[in-house]
Amino acid sequence: PNTDSQCQVLVLGSGPGGYTAAFRAADLGLDVVMVERYPQIGGVCLNVGCIPSKALLHAGEVLHEAERFAALGIKFGEPEIDLDGLRGYKDKTVKKLTGGLKQLAKQRKVRVVQGVGEFTGAHSIAVEGDDGREVIGFEHAIISVGSQAVKLPGFPWDDHRVMDSTDALDLADIPERMLVVGGGIIGLEMACVYESLGTKVTVVELSDTLMPGADRDIVRPFEKRAKKRFENIFLKSKVAGAEATEQGIVCRFEGEAKGLPEEDTFDRVLVAVGRSPNGAKINAEAAGVQVSERGFIEVDSQQRTNVGHIFAIGDVVGQPMLAHKATHEGKVAAEVIAGHKVHFDARAIPSVAYTHPEVAWMGVTEEQAKADGIEYTRGVFPWAASGRAIALGAEDGMTKLLFDAEGRVIGAGLVGPSAGDLIGEAMLALEMGAEMEDIGLTVHPHPTLSETVAFAAEAAHGSITDIL
Ligand code: FAD
Repeated sequence: PNTDSQCQVLVLGSGPGGYTAAFRAADLGLDVVMVERYPQIGGVCLNVGCIPSKALLHAGEVLHEAERFAALGIKFGEPEIDLDGLRGYKDKTVKKLTGGLKQLAKQRKVRVVQGVGEFTGAHSIAVEGDDGREVIGFEHAIISVGSQAVKLPGFPWDDHRVMDSTDALDLADIPERMLVVGGGIIGLEMACVYESLGTKVTVVELSDTLMPGADRDIVRPFEKRAKKRFENIFLKSKVAGAEATEQGIVCRFEGEAKGLPEEDTFDRVLVAVGRSPNGAKINAEAAGVQVSERGFIEVDSQQRTNVGHIFAIGDVVGQPMLAHKATHEGKVAAEVIAGHKVHFDARAIPSVAYTHPEVAWMGVTEEQAKADGIEYTRGVFPWAASGRAIALGAEDGMTKLLFDAEGRVIGAGLVGPSAGDLIGEAMLALEMGAEMEDIGLTVHPHPTLSETVAFAAEAAHGSITDIL
């Protein structure tokens, strides 16, 4: 009655969670409206997250490879970096995908409404856009409003030299010296990008390890290379204050790291200390949806909020804030709305740092297994014994599989080129309840990095004989 239009499913936010849910719901015959604040759909992941960062990391990897060419008997001149060209490559990559998404929405007759959406009731949302205000009524809603970078207080955020990940991806210049605050995946990926372009990068991390959450042995090869390539890595340390001056951003440090200066000046500072959910910004109270103090929306295993016909997915429902978690949750929400009896029951969600080298892990980590007293067998295959890894110059890589007492896969960690692709096999093994023999006895193509997964299983089984 008080609405301008009506739909069966309203999806708020067009990130990987939102568009997956919208497309799935449309494929199941539902009439779908997707609301997005920005003109470009695709959310953080496509526009300012996963995809642009991977485009830049690829360029960085090419530069690293070029450095090694002399060892391969190939000589090139000094690389020349055309920032406009590089930015163009990144933008083109993003555009191909967001353009494709637009097409997919059109094909499925998903109506995309541009504007900021806010609940006005349990069955309506008001969208404030360039073309005015539209109140859309819905039978079901899926909240997929994602998250945004935490703006750590104490930094002069009004100065363009202080950046979040979105600013860093803009690639305004190649700073001479950059400080990365936060040694998690996002901070380290951007550190690798800038380092490969020639910036002297310092990383400061509060905890006692880079990539907290992954096993130390898996992170070590990355750490070793980072120590060589970055100007400094300060663990167990933090920035206690920062000030913009003409010379740069002056940061005061506090902590236990060896050689930690009291203060230092940087041309740019990237703050990558985590992301906070957008749940508190959509007037969810009007619909009766509960939002936690931090802005998360709690859901059950069917992605349902405390209000039966309203669902939530992706970063806004909690950790891990990863695109592949959001897409899977999106499918579940759409299917539940269409009447299917499904729920989100992934046994593990893989994490990948697309750094140089790549680091990937999933399931139970060894450190967690030890802490929780889980009985496990470990199979490790060092890539120094893989013909393919040697040919690629990736001898410092490693594949590790963890098995439970019955010999079933419970976790995996990999480091080296394509670690993120290789973890897929371990994921399938985990979901299928595969045992070490299943992996070890599967014929893997030679010489590939995928063999290292089979060899790690054989190592755990004790059946490895002639690995070369
Ligand atoms: P989002 O992608 O955050 O999308 C939410 C959308 O909702 C946004 O487009 C936003 O504009 C819109 N929105 C919010 N509020 C409103 C409103 N009120 N009205 C209308 N629209 C609204 N994950 C990976 O898995 N792999 C990676 O390699 C990876 N790399 C990353 C690199 C960076 C630099 C960053 C920042 C993140 C990265 N992530 C990565 C995380 C990934 O981007 C997120 O997990 C994912 O985008 C979450 O999807 P989502 O659908 O929940 O929300």
